[in-house]
Amino acid sequence: MFGWVAIAASVPVWLYFFYRLTALFRFIRSGGPTQLNRTDRPLARLGRVLIEVFGHTHFKGRPLVNAAHWLVMVGFLFGAIVWFEAYIQTFAPDKGWPWLSDWPVYHFIEEVLAIGTVLGICFLIGVRLKLGHTERGSRFYNSQVFPARLVEAIVLLEGLGMLAVKASAIATYGGGSPWADFLTMRVAGVMQASPSMVQFFALVKLLTGLVFIACIARYFQWGVMWHRFMAFFNIFFQRNADGEKALGAVPTPDLEDLEPGSWKMLLDASSCTECGRCQDLCPAWNTEKPLSPKKLMMDLRQGALDNYNPHEGLNVLAMAGTIDDDVLWACTNCGACVDQCPVDIEHIDHVADLRRFKVLAESDFPSELTGLFKNMETKGNPWGRNASERRAWIDEARADGIEVPIIGEDAEDFSDLEYLFWVGCAGTYDDKGRATTRAVVDMLHTAGVKFGVLATGETCTGDPARRAGNEFLFQVMAEQNVATLNDAFAGVPKGQRKIITTCPHCFNTIRNEYPDFDGHFDVLHHTQLLNRLVREKLLVPVPRSPEDRKPVTYHDPCFLGRHNKVFDPPRELVEATGASLAEMDHNRDEAFCCGAGGARMFIEEKLGKRINEFRSEQAVATGAEQIATGCPFCNVMLTGGVKSIAPETQVSDVALMLRSAIAPSGDLPAPREKAFLDTPRRLPVEDSDVPSPEATAAQSAPTSSPQAPTAAPSAPSAASAPQAPAAPTPPAAPSAPAAPTAPQAPSAPTVPTAPAVPSTPSAPAAPSTPQVPAAPTAPAAPTAPSAPQAPAAPSAPAAPSTPKPLTAPSAPAAPKAPAAPSAPAAPKAPAAPSAPAAPKAPAAPSAPQAPSVPDAPAAPSAPAAPKAPGASASKGD
Ligand code: SF4
Ligand code: SF4
Repeated sequence: MFGWVAIAASVPVWLYFFYRLTALFRFIRSGGPTQLNRTDRPLARLGRVLIEVFGHTHFKGRPLVNAAHWLVMVGFLFGAIVWFEAYIQTFAPDKGWPWLSDWPVYHFIEEVLAIGTVLGICFLIGVRLKLGHTERGSRFYNSQVFPARLVEAIVLLEGLGMLAVKASAIATYGGGSPWADFLTMRVAGVMQASPSMVQFFALVKLLTGLVFIACIARYFQWGVMWHRFMAFFNIFFQRNADGEKALGAVPTPDLEDLEPGSWKMLLDASSCTECGRCQDLCPAWNTEKPLSPKKLMMDLRQGALDNYNPHEGLNVLAMAGTIDDDVLWACTNCGACVDQCPVDIEHIDHVADLRRFKVLAESDFPSELTGLFKNMETKGNPWGRNASERRAWIDEARADGIEVPIIGEDAEDFSDLEYLFWVGCAGTYDDKGRATTRAVVDMLHTAGVKFGVLATGETCTGDPARRAGNEFLFQVMAEQNVATLNDAFAGVPKGQRKIITTCPHCFNTIRNEYPDFDGHFDVLHHTQLLNRLVREKLLVPVPRSPEDRKPVTYHDPCFLGRHNKVFDPPRELVEATGASLAEMDHNRDEAFCCGAGGARMFIEEKLGKRINEFRSEQAVATGAEQIATGCPFCNVMLTGGVKSIAPETQVSDVALMLRSAIAPSGDLPAPREKAFLDTPRRLPVEDSDVPSPEATAAQSAPTSSPQAPTAAPSAPSAASAPQAPAAPTPPAAPSAPAAPTAPQAPSAPTVPTAPAVPSTPSAPAAPSTPQVPAAPTAPAAPTAPSAPQAPAAPSAPAAPSTPKPLTAPSAPAAPKAPAAPSAPAAPKAPAAPSAPAAPKAPAAPSAPQAPSVPDAPAAPSAPAAPKAPGASASKGD
């Protein structure tokens, strides 16, 4: 009878489960494409699944919880074999799996699994009860309570059921082994022999499992249950086949398809276990803002389910509408959620998708961003300052006797340079950022490093635009900068195109995002290079006196630490200055954000507590008198943060601390003779990607030791030799110098966008209004014409035209030019994706909304932002 009851209950449940499984598959498949290849290197991906599942390698912190979860997981995976055995036992209580059930090792494994499951789930139940779900500080706040309680009860019953079936079988039929059945033999001692009891326990075990199966089949939104299946797939399809978290770059999207709601977003949402680890370290959530990465994924899941129809598919617009603006724009892109998630959910990518959709398709974004976008379009920097100011600090440094070679002016090409110092907008326009820039340059000069700068050839990397959803603007700036950098590095092979930057946002963008635009550079944060200079004794800090060894704490910038794993060099530098390092409770990959990332630097923080003050409190709690950091934005935010908490606390970039240490009196030591740190390799300019035998031979010959400064110089000369023959063809060489003059380039972006915008809206009022939002689409117009030029490209002579972009002001032309000469020009055309943007023109109709936007005038106030650079603490105030 027990057996037939089990069969009767199982058939409908299993049929329903498989039916719903196909429905879930169709639901996830209804999502759009993702921007990345999710199936490359399948064996590596499979390996990652095994490593992450059985090694729990992406479970951070909480070792006891992780161990308990591991026991429960293994009990579930292998306990399934024991669970299915119950079908046999409900019919024949003295039987089991053929061969296996007579093997003591099987009994031992079953015993351990059952005990592990019971102990593990009891511990996890205790943790959930202790933390509760009603206090905002609990990571289970917002998590669904009933499904969690239910699954915990089911797991506990399953574990107890395994023990009960085993013990009752031993009590009834004897046998058992003291080592394989060490616990159940004792339990059997207090039980009566009864075949029916064995069948009953087996039936209870089966029915408990069937309840679990029926529940997940019914409720797709019960992630706490579904993750037992979905996690495997989510780990397999994660962004990086090697298991690297989805940090660093934001994947470059197809501008023709801006809709959010990819199948990966749906898979992510369906896999969320609601564990709350992401919520625990989210700076927005910890400062009383409505954003919780966990809730975001839960809301996306529910929104998708509510707006999915098996016949019509997913209503993406309705789904996106379920995420409140205050939630969406609160994210700082700090990456803590992505880093903490044990099932590899990619929150930042989804935030980026949603913001992009809001900005480019709906022209719906915080008013402050209007000024940001306009400044970046017209001036090439977030604050709308003039490009000519990018020379100001250089003139000051030169007046003080510091050499700052400008590539294209003081150095014709890169043959006798080793590093390109990308100064960045904050490093130019912000007071504290400029002080850091000067300190770095002082030390490079002192250490004899061969470096050059672009001066007015730089524009913003585009990071704030991309993170704020204006992908079009980002791509225009990225293409322009990549063209400038590739031109500056003409003749320098990949692997030798070294860029130093003091801004982690520039660092991340150039290093991780420019490769999508054919920009392949070796990017170093200034703390990495300075640390090397100190280690190689090219910079020698003067030891502090014991009374001067004041405690200093170091704040990890998110885009340097968590996103790019640079944790140690800045710390080693702090210690090299003689200070004692006092770590905050949350440091390294658990550090809290300062609040500036994700373009939040340029958006007013109206809700909850200020993130910069929250982080500053943690820094001040260490007792440190100085906060060191390695990011101009963190510098500004923390400076503002400590003002109201501990005004006497100083906030400083590590570079400034080091400069003080090597020049306590203020006067720098005599500069070393300029020399390469590493043996340089240079190629003929026209073929920079193909190693030249002469060059390589020349370089290997001269130096075995990089320390021989004199040997290094010889290398460049060797390299320059081959360039001579190359000279004929590559007028590219002359173009190099043109690059620097490209200062006009920055103005380029303005050309395309600004004018086009007004033309779009027929309404006269439109132009005056912040049509700026429409701007992104508008540029499509100018680029489109470039498309036809592409075909013209075949006439290779396009090469000469190449210089145009470099010298010519029209930046947009710049990116196209490089494309033109080669066939790839064709693909560039698609790059002109701007064209697709055209279709968004219809979005223009939103122009009428413009009138409503009149508050845009508020936007103008945004320009007030320019205070930021000067004030250096505008945000933090
Ligand atoms: S990236 Fe940072 S701010 Fe954004 S949701 Fe994740 S933890 Fe929160
Ligand atoms: S997103 Fe990841 S870390 Fe956050 S609750 Fe879901 S499973 Fe846990």
